Amino acid sequence: MAVELNAQSNHYGFRLPDELVLLRDQIRRFMREEVKPIEDKLPHDATGCSSEDRKKLRALAEEMGLTRLTVPEEYGGNPVSALARVVIAEESAKCRLGGYNPALGAFGGGPPNIIWGGTQDQIERYGIPCIEGKKHAFVAITEPTGGSDPRNNISTRATRSGDHWVLNGRKMWITGAGHADFGIIFARTKDGTENAPPEITAFIVEPDFPGINFNEIKVIRALSPYEIVLDNCEVPLENVLGNVGQGFGVAQNWLVDARIPYAAGCIGIAQEALDMACGWVKQRPTRGGMLADKQAIQWMIADSEVELRAARMLIYDAASKVDEGLPGKVDASICKLYGTETAGRGVDRAMQMFGGMGMAQEMPLERWYREMRVKRIGEGPSEVHRMVISRDKLRNTDGGIYFG
Ligand SMILES: Cc1cc2nc3c(=O)[nH]c(=O)nc-3n(C[C@H](O)[C@H](O)[C@H](O)COP(=O)(O)OP(=O)(O)OC[C@H]3O[C@@H](n4cnc5c(N)ncnc54)[C@H](O)[C@@H]3O)c2cc1C
Repeated sequence: MAVELNAQSNHYGFRLPDELVLLRDQIRRFMREEVKPIEDKLPHDATGCSSEDRKKLRALAEEMGLTRLTVPEEYGGNPVSALARVVIAEESAKCRLGGYNPALGAFGGGPPNIIWGGTQDQIERYGIPCIEGKKHAFVAITEPTGGSDPRNNISTRATRSGDHWVLNGRKMWITGAGHADFGIIFARTKDGTENAPPEITAFIVEPDFPGINFNEIKVIRALSPYEIVLDNCEVPLENVLGNVGQGFGVAQNWLVDARIPYAAGCIGIAQEALDMACGWVKQRPTRGGMLADKQAIQWMIADSEVELRAARMLIYDAASKVDEGLPGKVDASICKLYGTETAGRGVDRAMQMFGGMGMAQEMPLERWYREMRVKRIGEGPSEVHRMVISRDKLRNTDGGIYFG
């Protein structure tokens, strides 16, 4: 597919390098010309396409170098910068077969990043088959007792017994667990003390290990999460991922890394919703003109455009910091909080401008609306990110000039 440079299209304010403008336009075109026509044939709430279509899309994406974006080169990957990943995430999320449902989408699933910290054997058995599209994985941190404070709330216990570990406990809301080929489960291997948090270890489990069961949980969106029940589930010693007791550190890095593209995907959806609404209000007649002539409509458009640009700046800035090797935890929280909340408001405003049509299932808006609601809970609820941001601010700020 030929790539054209459209200098006018870099209108968002942040000067993306030219090669990323090219990449963005290339993905935009791929979504519109290749992915959307396949998506248009699907039922409104379908979470995937036929394996034939999926293969076709993956082959095209592969040809364009758009797969394996977080896979190290030594394993056949094509890793790109964090800034490139957010550009890809924003554009590809506009089709559900693109970004926000990657396990079923055009770019292939890929294993959870933490697998690259595993042993050679783990990488070969679990990592490589994922990048070849032969295996899918889940990651299970959250438990019924609460997901907002996993360091203290993980009570699933792993006990060493001879040549294996025995896991007991329950996990909740785990995306894709019921149809995955393996998963990474975080369990407590040592209780905490007054001075030290509990020790958490990551384990690779397979669905046919003895003592593991999955129950689907129906939620607001079609892609269901699962409850996982671990009843004396036996896990071989070699399936510990990373070192015993260091699972939480591994999970933290991975979550921070994932949150910035997560936010980018959300604003991609909200941008598409706004652009669709602009097209609609310009041709929808109302008393004395078109809807677009009314100030109430113009203000909704302005508010969404301003918020989306602000969110995009935060995301680009955070990704650039990651690329410079600067600490990104607070920036990732800022992106996750502002990106998901902005996107929720943006999709909501777009539905308002569409009126009744905004509610119709022939439009993607109501599906996006439900999806954006989930996004304020998954990857940590807004309140937890507010806590992270304010804690950092209070720790690093003693007062303004009038109090100094
Ligand atoms: C569709 C879906 C898919 C998911 N997929 C996965 C997955 O694949 N793997 C996985 O491990 N988890 C997954 N989750 C779980 C998700 O990460 C948790 O739901 C989330 O972290 C919140 O945990 P909780 O539901 O236990 O809510 P709780 O921790 O009980 O919190 C409930 C509410 O209380 C508020 N709150 C919590 N803590 C604070 C605080 N300190 N200060 C102020 N208010 C607070 C927030 O409003 C929060 O929403 C998924 C969730 C959903 C809905």
